[in-house]
Amino acid sequence: MMQSQEIRKQFLAFFENKKHTIVPSAPMVIKDDPTLMFTNAGMNQFKEFFLGNKKPKNSRVTDTQKCLRVSGKHNDLEEVGKDTYHHTMFEMLGNWSFGDYFKKEAIQWAWELLTEVFKVDKDMLYVTIFEGDEKEGLQRDTEAYDIWKEFISEDRILNGNKKDNFWEMGEQGPCGPCSEIHVDIRSAEEKAKVPGKDLVNKDHPEVIEVWNLVFIQFNRKADSSLEELPAQHIDTGMGFERLCMVLQNKKSNYDTDVFTPLIREIETITNSKYGKEEEIDIAIRVIADHVRAVSFAIADGQLPSNTGAGYVIRRILRRAIRYGFTFLNEKEPFIYKLVDTLENQMHEAFPELRSQKGIIENVIKEEEHSFLRTLDQGLQLLDNVIAGSKSKTISGKKAFELYDTYGFPIDLTALILSEKGFELDTESFDVELQKQKERSRKATKIETGDWHELIEDDEEEFVGYDMLQTKVKITRYRKVTSKKDGEMYQLVFNLTPFYPEGGGQVGDKGYLEAPNGDVTYILDTKKENNLIIHYTRNLPVNLNATFEAVVDLDSRNNTAANHTATHLLHQGLRTVLGTHVEQKGSLVKADYLRFDFSHYAKVTTDELKQVEEFVNARIREQLPLEENRNIPYQQALNEGAVALFGEKYGDTVRTIKFGESMELCGGTHVKNTADIWHFVITSESAVAAGVRRIEAISAEGAKQYFESQSEAYDKVLAVLKTKNDPIKVITSLQEENVALRKEIEALQKEKAKGLKQEIRNGLEDVNGVKFLAQKVDLDQAALKDMAFELGSEFKNLFALFASENNGKAMLTCYISKELVAEKELNAGQVVRELGKLIQGGGGGQPFFATAGGKNPGGIPEVLEKAKTYIL
Ligand code: ATP
Ligand code: MG
Repeated sequence: MMQSQEIRKQFLAFFENKKHTIVPSAPMVIKDDPTLMFTNAGMNQFKEFFLGNKKPKNSRVTDTQKCLRVSGKHNDLEEVGKDTYHHTMFEMLGNWSFGDYFKKEAIQWAWELLTEVFKVDKDMLYVTIFEGDEKEGLQRDTEAYDIWKEFISEDRILNGNKKDNFWEMGEQGPCGPCSEIHVDIRSAEEKAKVPGKDLVNKDHPEVIEVWNLVFIQFNRKADSSLEELPAQHIDTGMGFERLCMVLQNKKSNYDTDVFTPLIREIETITNSKYGKEEEIDIAIRVIADHVRAVSFAIADGQLPSNTGAGYVIRRILRRAIRYGFTFLNEKEPFIYKLVDTLENQMHEAFPELRSQKGIIENVIKEEEHSFLRTLDQGLQLLDNVIAGSKSKTISGKKAFELYDTYGFPIDLTALILSEKGFELDTESFDVELQKQKERSRKATKIETGDWHELIEDDEEEFVGYDMLQTKVKITRYRKVTSKKDGEMYQLVFNLTPFYPEGGGQVGDKGYLEAPNGDVTYILDTKKENNLIIHYTRNLPVNLNATFEAVVDLDSRNNTAANHTATHLLHQGLRTVLGTHVEQKGSLVKADYLRFDFSHYAKVTTDELKQVEEFVNARIREQLPLEENRNIPYQQALNEGAVALFGEKYGDTVRTIKFGESMELCGGTHVKNTADIWHFVITSESAVAAGVRRIEAISAEGAKQYFESQSEAYDKVLAVLKTKNDPIKVITSLQEENVALRKEIEALQKEKAKGLKQEIRNGLEDVNGVKFLAQKVDLDQAALKDMAFELGSEFKNLFALFASENNGKAMLTCYISKELVAEKELNAGQVVRELGKLIQGGGGGQPFFATAGGKNPGGIPEVLEKAKTYIL
């Protein structure tokens, strides 16, 4: 049986032989495309080649691409685990032609690989071609049909509709008719009952699509019309796990060696058995699948979070936790333990799993902990809901609250309710869910217009490393509308000095000046599919003019200082804390910088000082920038450059070096570390398990920081009326304060002495008890002294003092021990009971107790009631 590793290798080798260049998988998490969060097909990373925005270096490439189909147009999440051939994260094997070969070679080679190299039985195969679509004005793909019939009998070539045989990445973008290859892996007996051709594209678990050959020739525009692309391309995608299933003669992807090690490990850890009971099998498949998706995402730098891509990852992990919780009875974290098995199995093709293993495990474990806690709380809340419910049907509103605020899965709510003989009103739940979806859709909806091209076929050049001002022409523009930003325009130039947001650094701001002096402000600059996009509120009047493009100098310089400081900080952290420190994220702005990195403990104040000093020492060394804009990726690594995982690097890269600090980086930097002036760490905190965050300032930010510190200091001097030694003044003020306090205490005691006589005079003889209930203007400590003093004088004392301070009432009760025994009195009980009258409570011992309350208005009643204890 061919191992999966070998299958992957043979695929790539086959196309390498056909003059394709093997390229690495792009990161699974996409950072520069607002229309797509995750790579959902092999073609994503080549989109710009199809659209003609960029020219490829090689016209034929092949790879295996990590894909994730959990959001947007391609979302298989709910299927995963329930069936045996859809995953959230899977590998897509592909071969591409960018304006090179077309249908004939694509079909011929696919056939050759499957039937001759992999020796798949031809009788298992069916293919589909696009039948055409009248509404779109598209013809049947007779060209593909004619090519296929050279290889496969005509009764195995089936027509497919637009849904199956016209491939589109999303609402907009490159697309075209496609031709799929399906396998029928049923037993001969089953095949005799129903012919395979009747089951193609019918969701049959044993008649499934393995390979899709897409003939890219159109671009879907914003108004949903199709536009012919200037060239024709090939884009193919074959599910690696499905191919393994076919070649390893299995009936399920989960029975291939891609999954069996994980499944065995789940069985061991959870003490369960795969293949016996459907519910348990689904749970095991869900967990085996999801741990892959989540691990690869974290390796790509996407931590679970509350928004965007991070939230999607959190939800996937929670789905796995919840299946383990309900069906495998796992109440403690366990999914993180699978990372070891996954790493062993995949690290050869995806070395990031090995290098990032520690953080992947930590993050998953922490997420498991916190979600299990949530589940626990949710269960309690649900119990309360059940207990408080008059009917046997629980409203969807309540369930939605649990779901929305606590992340409590709705299917779990329904399950628990049914176990307890209750029912969930799913209809009203759906209404709430729909409402929420509508709210968030409205909040995030972006309408993107089509590009208006002014100058064709011009590749935009970034000149912002060397210039902050230059003449430009607009090559294309379009309108975008979103709730958040309103109407904006996106402009692309023939060349630009504006740095587009990337590598953590914010985009440049500035303006365009027309020859007549009209100014259009550039509010932000971003990169989208390799185009540098400038955001403006309005369009310049004459779009065809030549403009002076000017970058905001101050903001750029401060950002550059913070960016260089970030590199030095990274180096400082690795020096002080150790080389396990890896960058996990960064934000570089004009006013401050933020740096997230892997480290397992809080960074101590002492360590922070050392890091800060490290950076400031590099600043004082006045290290010049050594930049290499075009160095082969591997060579840069060999020279010691630090690369970030999850970033997409080209064949050649740019390196930024200041002394011993060397990083792959596209950002803007100072010419000399001296330009940073000074570096100050302003905070250290935790972002996730094993990930710490440092915030810091430099240059203008540091200057302002010191200025405001010094201003505050001046104010302190002014307030203290001193010129130079505030510490001395403060110390003497503190001493004076202590002395005054002592004096007050002494005065209180004096006052008490005077009062004592008064109080003695107030003592009554009631039933042989020396009784006293009085409001006294003394503090708590003085009252206690007084009570004990009287107590030592009289052996039959019952004294209750009430006092008032700052709007609060206090009671102090003393009962001689003899009385306590004799009359079964209890001071603690007395203050508790009387305390209610002052809206408070308290307690103490049987002979001495105190109480406090917020209602001094109750004091007269307290004094009146006191006597009742001895009557
Ligand atoms: P299906 O109809 O089976 O969902 P698809 O039409 O969505 O497949 P394509 O978008 O054409 O698939 O993707 C190309 C190939 O990727 C498919 O032929 C299949 O082998 C594989 N594939 C697609 N989705 C998944 C998935 N969720 N898990 C594993 N493999 C997949
Ligand atoms: Mg699909």
